[in-house]
Amino acid sequence: MTESEPASGRLESVGVGRWRGVDVMPYKPTGTHFQAISRQLLFGGDRDLPIEIRYFEIEPGGYSTLERHEHTHWVMVLEGSGRALVGTEVVPLHMHDIVRIPAWTWHQFHAGESHGIGILCVVAADRDRPSRPTKEDLAELIASSEVAEFIRV
Ligand code: MN
Repeated sequence: MTESEPASGRLESVGVGRWRGVDVMPYKPTGTHFQAISRQLLFGGDRDLPIEIRYFEIEPGGYSTLERHEHTHWVMVLEGSGRALVGTEVVPLHMHDIVRIPAWTWHQFHAGESHGIGILCVVAADRDRPSRPTKEDLAELIASSEVAEFIRV
């Protein structure tokens, strides 16, 4: 599958969380460990700027995969609100909040129940693949009742 990548230069905003010429794609090709989430690639990286900037939109009640990996995420809320698991903490997310997900930190993003959330996410273009929790990892995570109540797997 070829990924659409915007041409260099201006990306024209054509509505909330939409840019002309940028395809709205599935978050991941397959899986049941996420729900109601789409992905857009806003910047695919340059030789002298080897990062990707993605825009994820999560519909009300939806969530991203519970995962961790070596690469860092830098995330900014552009629209709406929700919550995120960052390590062992569940944090509220409001418009223009910024969250950094350090290496090997468990994370999951949730939209609110009645409103969605749109987030910008910056990652290294060359990065490792995410890992999902093992049974042992899950046992550790749910030791916190707040986390146990929050996570979706
Ligand atoms: Mn991640």
